[in-house]
Amino acid sequence: MTHFDLLVLGTGSGNSILTSDFDDKRVAIVEKGVFGGTCLNVGCIPSKMFVYTADRALAAADSSKYGLDTSYNSVDWPALRDRVFGRIDPIAAGGEKYRTEECDNVTVYKGVATFIGPNEVAVGDETLTADNIVVATGARVFVPPVPGLADVGFHTSDTVMRIDELPKRMVVLGAGYIASELGHVFGSLGVEVTFINRSAKFLRNEDNDISDRFTEVYSRRFNLVSNTTISNVSRDASGEITLDLVSAGATSQLTTDMILVTTGRVPNADTVGAATAGIAVDEAGYIVTDAYGRTNVDGVWALGDVTTALQLKHSANHEARVVAHNVAAVASGVGDDALVARDLSLVPHAVFGNPQVAAVGMTEQAAVDAGIPHLVKVQNYGDTAYGWAMEDAESFVKLIAHSETRLLLGAHIIGPQASTLIQQLIQGMKFGQTVDEMARDQMYIHPALSEVVENALLGL
Ligand SMILES: Cc1cc2nc3c(=O)[nH]c(=O)nc-3n(C[C@H](O)[C@H](O)[C@H](O)COP(=O)(O)OP(=O)(O)OC[C@H]3O[C@@H](n4cnc5c(N)ncnc54)[C@H](O)[C@@H]3O)c2cc1C
Repeated sequence: MTHFDLLVLGTGSGNSILTSDFDDKRVAIVEKGVFGGTCLNVGCIPSKMFVYTADRALAAADSSKYGLDTSYNSVDWPALRDRVFGRIDPIAAGGEKYRTEECDNVTVYKGVATFIGPNEVAVGDETLTADNIVVATGARVFVPPVPGLADVGFHTSDTVMRIDELPKRMVVLGAGYIASELGHVFGSLGVEVTFINRSAKFLRNEDNDISDRFTEVYSRRFNLVSNTTISNVSRDASGEITLDLVSAGATSQLTTDMILVTTGRVPNADTVGAATAGIAVDEAGYIVTDAYGRTNVDGVWALGDVTTALQLKHSANHEARVVAHNVAAVASGVGDDALVARDLSLVPHAVFGNPQVAAVGMTEQAAVDAGIPHLVKVQNYGDTAYGWAMEDAESFVKLIAHSETRLLLGAHIIGPQASTLIQQLIQGMKFGQTVDEMARDQMYIHPALSEVVENALLGL
C-alpha cells in the first residue's frame, strides 16, 4: 500500500488540480486511457477542428447568393484527420511525459482506478491511499441496447474522428449536440447523412424557437427520420447495414454503410467504484458534491462530468480551480472558512453545428413556468447591416429579460458566430447590468455583427 497526500483519478480536468500549491506534496494521478481526457483527445478540440473544416466545405458548396460560382469537390480525409490528430496526439503525449518525467513529486499510474474502500483505491496490483482523493473520471458514451447493434458494429465520438476512409452513407443515432456537430462534419464533407431520432426535434433542451429553427435547417440539409425507434440492426454479406425502424406502429427499413451512435453519455461513477467507497450518487448516477466539491465521504472530492449532466469543459475547469484551491486549503490545515464555493449559476454553452447555437440562462418556457414577469425580443441577423452582407435569412438573437428589474434572464443565439456574440451578454448578466446599460452605455462597432445583439437589447 502506498500513501500520498493527494490522489487524482482521471487526467482530464483532474490534471489541472496539480497546481504549484502541491509542489511540496506527494501526489499520484491515475489514468486508464489517453492522458488529457475527453476534451483534448476525443471531444471539444478535435470535433471543433473538424467542424471548422466542414464549415468551409459547406460555404464552398454554395456561394451563389453572393454571385460567386464556387463548389465543394472533395476532401483528402486522411490528410484532414492526420492534421487534427497530428496536433492533438503530441499534446497528450507531452502532458503525460511532463507529469511522468518532469514532476518529481508526482507518480503517474496507468490503469483503471477502483475504490476498494472509502479512502483506498486499487490500480492493478497496487493499493493507493491518500489524505485527499479527487474523482475526475468523467463520463462515457451511452450505447442504447438495440438488438444487433453490437454485432454489426458502430462508431461513437470516441472512434469516428479517426476512421480510415469516409463511408458513402452514415446513419447518426441521436439529435443532441454531438449528433448535430458530427453529422454536420460528415455531411458537409460529402457523406450522405441520415439522423434517426426518437423524438421530433434536434436540441430539444434549447429554447423552443432555437430548436425549431435548428430542426428546420437540418431537415433541409439532411435526411431526418424522427419519432422513430430501431427494432433491429443487421449486416448482409456485402457489408451493407440494414436498420429495422418503427414509427407510430408502422415498420420500415433503412440501409447504410456506417452507424454513428450519439445517444448521450453516462458518468463514470459506477466504474470507479463509488458505491464501494460509500460515495453518494444521484438517481442518474452522478456523484453528489457540495458547493466546495466535497462528496459525502471525508477526504474525497469530485468534479466535472462525473458529477453533473452539464457535461461542459468550461464548467469542469471552473470546478477544478475550486477543488484545487479547497484541497490545498485543507491540506495546509486552514479551517473551512478558507474554502471557496463554485458558482454554476450562469453556465453558457454552444453547439458547433451549422447553424451554430449558443445559450445562457433561462429559456422562454422556463420563465413562463416560473411565473416570472418577462419581455422577449427576437432580432433577426437579416435586419442588421452585417446580416444584409451575409444575405442571412435564418439566424436570430432571442433575449428574455425581467420586465421589472430589466435584467437579462436568458440569451439564445442561432447563426454564425453565436458562441462569440453571446459572450458580452454573459458578461452583462454576470456583472448585474440591465439590458439598457448593456445596450446604451457602450458603443457598438458599425456595421459589425454585434449590432444584432445591440438591436436585440434595444428592442426589450
Ligand atoms: C464529441 C464531444 C464534443 C464535445 N465538445 C465540447 C465543447 O465543444 N465544449 C465543451 O465545453 N464541452 C464539450 N464536450 C464535453 C467535454 O469534453 C467534457 O465536459 C469534459 O472533457 C469533461 O472533463 P472531465 O475532466 O470531467 O472528464 P474527462 O475529460 O472525460 O476526463 C476523465 C478521465 O478519467 C479517465 N478515467 C475514467 N475512469 C477512470 C478510472 N476508473 N481510472 C482511471 N482513469 C479513469 C478517462 O480515461 C479520462 O481520461 C464534448 C464532449 C464530446 C464527447
